[in-house]
Amino acid sequence: MTIQSFHPPARILMGPGPSDVNPRILEAMSRPTIGHLDPAFVGMMDEVKVMTQYAFQTKNEATFTISAPGSAGMEFCFVNLVEPGDKVIICQNGVFGGRMKENVTRIGAQAIMVENDWGTVVDPNALEDALKANPDASIVAFVHAETSTGAMSDAETLCKIAHKYDCLTIVDAVTSLGGSPLKVDEWEIDAIYSGTQKCLSCTPGLSPVSFSDRALERVKARKTPVQSWFLDINLLLGYWGSGTRAYHHTAPINTLYGLHEALVLLQEEGLENAWARHRKNHEMLKAGIEAMGLSFIVKEGDRLPQLNAVSIPDGVDEAAVRSALLNEYNLEIGAGLGALAGKVWRIGIMGYASNRKNVMYCLGVLDTVLAGLGADINTGAALPEAAKID
Ligand SMILES: *Cc1c(COP(=O)(O)O)cnc(C)c1O
Repeated sequence: MTIQSFHPPARILMGPGPSDVNPRILEAMSRPTIGHLDPAFVGMMDEVKVMTQYAFQTKNEATFTISAPGSAGMEFCFVNLVEPGDKVIICQNGVFGGRMKENVTRIGAQAIMVENDWGTVVDPNALEDALKANPDASIVAFVHAETSTGAMSDAETLCKIAHKYDCLTIVDAVTSLGGSPLKVDEWEIDAIYSGTQKCLSCTPGLSPVSFSDRALERVKARKTPVQSWFLDINLLLGYWGSGTRAYHHTAPINTLYGLHEALVLLQEEGLENAWARHRKNHEMLKAGIEAMGLSFIVKEGDRLPQLNAVSIPDGVDEAAVRSALLNEYNLEIGAGLGALAGKVWRIGIMGYASNRKNVMYCLGVLDTVLAGLGADINTGAALPEAAKID
């Protein structure tokens, strides 16, 4: 048998990521590969840097892209800022805080966990109590937009509290970048990482990152070398920084063309407009979901517009619903993760996938599939309610 070229089915991606990729980005990625030290490519990297600064709302010089997915951006922040024996406070309210803990313990540092119920935001008072109880802590880390639950924490307040106790902050903005207000300089975030496949609607595999001057000073003051060679910021700045570019690794050239185009698209739309679009499409989905008789697990006001964790009606086989959506309607939504496995669906309305047409389609097919299974919902109510939001 001869294996043939792979042609993926035409899905609509409304899960926790990846999101639908804008065709302009795919087109950009199909352009000819050039050398990664070619002056033309170096010029493009500089533009990626400037546009990433805009997306993060920062003037940080140390703003660039890790050649690996969001998880590597997370590891990049921890391996550069944490040394063996350090104490790190991690505020956990979902899956990704658990991964932060894993990073810290593998470094040989101590993770002090501040646990919040899944589906709630990080409690600033609990953070402050932990800081008082651990005056020797040096870093506070938390997830801005918890994709596993759909809760958005108050990053600005958490950073203020951390700084009051002389701690640097590491913030996960994988799902917030390009989808919800995020202001690195104004909120005084010290180290931040994101991903390309959520609200930027690029292909997966890159992690935009940024370090403040304060974070760079901390790196300089390290007593031990950075544990990871690939993620050592000192070496990466020699590759991404201004001046002569030294070979570190071969950048994923075509993926970076894609990120460049994604950031051009973000500039064209305007950051505030992108945030407003994600909010509006969430309002539409919410109107439909609630009309159907389903509910959100996160309380109003704490919800992440681009990731909606929705309750499953009693007696419904949630996996069967997701399979029907995928196989019969080419629509992907997400399953619950960790403590919420089997308890919620996660509907993402991120980036290019965040539009009116998709929200109506998702509500319509969800209604149809649930009604077909005899679920206890208000069939036919979702679309008229959602259509009222404009
Ligand atoms: C998706 C996600 C990650 C991991 O990103 P990958 O690109 O899958 O490695 C980390 N944190 C959050 C909050 C995410 O949503």
